[in-house]
Amino acid sequence: MKVGVLALQGAFREHAEALDALGAEAVLVKTPEHLAGVDSLVLPGGESTTMSHLLATSGLDEALDDRLRAGMPVLGTCAGMILLAEEVLDGRPDQRALGAVDISVRRNAYGRQRESFETDLTIDGLAGTFPGVFIRAPAVERVGEGVTILAEVDRRAVMCRQGTVTVCAFHPELSGDLRVHAEFLKEAATR
Ligand code: GLN
Repeated sequence: MKVGVLALQGAFREHAEALDALGAEAVLVKTPEHLAGVDSLVLPGGESTTMSHLLATSGLDEALDDRLRAGMPVLGTCAGMILLAEEVLDGRPDQRALGAVDISVRRNAYGRQRESFETDLTIDGLAGTFPGVFIRAPAVERVGEGVTILAEVDRRAVMCRQGTVTVCAFHPELSGDLRVHAEFLKEAATR
């Protein structure tokens, strides 16, 4: 299965390495043509305002809209979660929300002291705990009815799923634990 990693900006290499380590064929996606060649897509962490701008200038935004509407499996982490959300709070006015998952997220919501932190997460469907690496993470402030919460920190959702879209506020690609990627590949293979 060819798994795309949106490679406009941010931590895309780490995602590609994780996917390669699991035996998938990771493809860096920078153009609509690249997107047309993949079955699923990972949207990495980084800077959502920059990625939003680059999505528009590369023409990828419309192509991505079409694929999302068609139900392509996607995994969005941190900035990727922000891009896929229905509503972005504290975003830039020109920042686009792709609306693939019915949540509202606030950018950089954890304040200076907790800008970056690690905490063990309990994730639905995974045994034991998962190392949650949070870096200037967005906070999920609203979760729509059709959205399943897969993990929480302090009673706030940090990982959710709606249909074929999975998003997390943390960085599984920086955790050294491949299980979130493995689950994504397993799910995507059934579509
Ligand atoms: N604060 C970043 C943004 O708004 C996200 C941080 C991250 O992806 N590590 O895009």
